[in-house]
Amino acid sequence: MNTRQTSWPSSVTTEPVTPCLSELLQQASCQLETVSASPLLDAQLLLAHALQKAHSYLLTWPESTPSQAEQALFEEYLQQRRKGIPVAYILGYKEFWSLPFTVTPDVLIPRPETELLVEQVLESCQTLTQPRILELGTGSGAIAIALATELPRVQITASDYSEAALATARNNAQNILSQQQEANITFLHSDWLTKIPRTEYDIIVSNPPYIAEADSHLEGDIRHEPLSALVSGSDGLDAIRMIIRDAKHYLCHGGLLLLEHGFDQGQRVKTCMQAAGYAHCKTLQDPAQTDRLTMGRYLNS
Ligand code: GLN
Repeated sequence: MNTRQTSWPSSVTTEPVTPCLSELLQQASCQLETVSASPLLDAQLLLAHALQKAHSYLLTWPESTPSQAEQALFEEYLQQRRKGIPVAYILGYKEFWSLPFTVTPDVLIPRPETELLVEQVLESCQTLTQPRILELGTGSGAIAIALATELPRVQITASDYSEAALATARNNAQNILSQQQEANITFLHSDWLTKIPRTEYDIIVSNPPYIAEADSHLEGDIRHEPLSALVSGSDGLDAIRMIIRDAKHYLCHGGLLLLEHGFDQGQRVKTCMQAAGYAHCKTLQDPAQTDRLTMGRYLNS
């Protein structure tokens, strides 16, 4: 029996070939097809992050090859994404109102449709000289911080029940805002309105949890987000009903309450507001033509 080890002459030994960026993207995109609705975009965001380069670099240099360390990092990110972890948590940030928010699994990832709340608050502020604004359930601080960038002389109070969320929100305020803008936001620990001082606010705004406990949307990536920021009772409206009931004690005469809600909750939220004594109630749609927020004024005369 021939016991000699077969080995290639050293001149023929080849190093494993490192795939170039476009090949890596193609392979990664295939791997993510079953977990993501946007596999190529996800792969691009993760690869650009592993390379510490702008997205455009991938398109400009498709044939360049990453270092082994960069490739290993990309593989680590892909592994997380294959487990369903949202891209924003892997990258550690998410853009909202064109601002870069740090996000951790302690906070809901800001959604583009929530920008409608910011737009509506800004519009309502146009007729007020010194509006006092309260945001309930601030999470990453996205709404309050976006407002603070647009309203440099306005005092904003932002609350959350989660200390971890408040730490993330404070961190975002420090990173995103100027010192002056940051000084305009007061972050408070409170379970909805329970620990809010009885000041009169002109505007109370919230993107509360509004998904029903048994909702099928709770599958997939969303299960990595904090349940307390998503789910609220059997019909999803527990937090919204509580806010509608209590907010009127904190609003000035004619003060405005604006609430984000689910695509099929507009009518119920409006009815609830009207029953609680709010006037001029209306539901607005987001850019996807989906009912997204309902607002009403409290007239306490
Ligand atoms: N808009 C989020 C979603 O549908 C839910 C956010 C919330 O409950 N406030 O995923």
